[in-house]
Amino acid sequence: MARFDGKRGLVLGVANRRSIAWAIARRLAEGGAQLAFTYQGERIEAGVRELAGSVSSPLVVDCDVRSDEDVARVLGEVGEVFGGELDLLVHSVAFAAAEDLEGRFTDTPRERFWLALDVSAYSLVACARAAEPLLDAAGGGSILTMTYLGGERAVPHYNVMGVAKAALDASVRYLAWDLGPKNIRVNAISAGPVRTLAARSIAGFPTMEAIVEERSPLHRPIDAGDVGAAAEYLLSDDARNVTATTLYVDSGYHSMGM
Ligand code: NAD
Repeated sequence: MARFDGKRGLVLGVANRRSIAWAIARRLAEGGAQLAFTYQGERIEAGVRELAGSVSSPLVVDCDVRSDEDVARVLGEVGEVFGGELDLLVHSVAFAAAEDLEGRFTDTPRERFWLALDVSAYSLVACARAAEPLLDAAGGGSILTMTYLGGERAVPHYNVMGVAKAALDASVRYLAWDLGPKNIRVNAISAGPVRTLAARSIAGFPTMEAIVEERSPLHRPIDAGDVGAAAEYLLSDDARNVTATTLYVDSGYHSMGM
């Protein structure tokens, strides 16, 4: 499908082929989008370059979203390769220290609380601000981030990441209000459990998967491809009047009280 012909996108958050960001990127590339990618750290660089190469990406750059300099440099390079314009921004980045995803939330130390919120929530604000001139120059655009039900309800073990997702969810709404007049939409997908690198650091992740399968209306797990399909819609012009919203891709689990 040529849904993204002529569209230019930036994808943050590919670590490997299991990453949700990669499932989204594949959909966009299949639809004709040209994509730039960021990766964090040398350890994953070769893998990300290989994946990006498979969709003929014109730009693959290092970016630690905790650094305003990195974010500004990346958007500068994106502007250079895409003629000063950008249509799509995929933010699929989160981090919390492993020890904070297993014990009690109550014991989260101050510096690791802010670390989780910096990487997982503030980074959306920093990226949106840096991308705004490029999205504006393109006549508008679409920003998408990844959230989880643990930001709305207490999910055992999700802990500080849940607090970060709550901040992320609120940021989506405020960014949507600020950027709407420039025809820039901001949305989130709330995904059910998907086996990725980040998911592996959550203690009790297999329990989360088992409970979704047992209690969700559809009684089945989701995969990264399901998130890619939903992302394709939200990022496309078909969703031109959809902003500030969360689309749940979780077999309906979020609707249940028991
Ligand atoms: P993943 O490990 O493949 O992706 C997480 C990405 O965050 C990695 O690419 C990592 O390099 C990047 N990252 C971490 N710290 C960074 C930093 N300081 N600067 C730049 N990048 C950094 O795992 P994933 O599951 O694909 O996660 C993507 C998003 O989806 C996250 O926001 C996650 O919370 C969300 N999500 C995941 C699930 C799930 O079950 N896997 C469910 C709901 C939401």
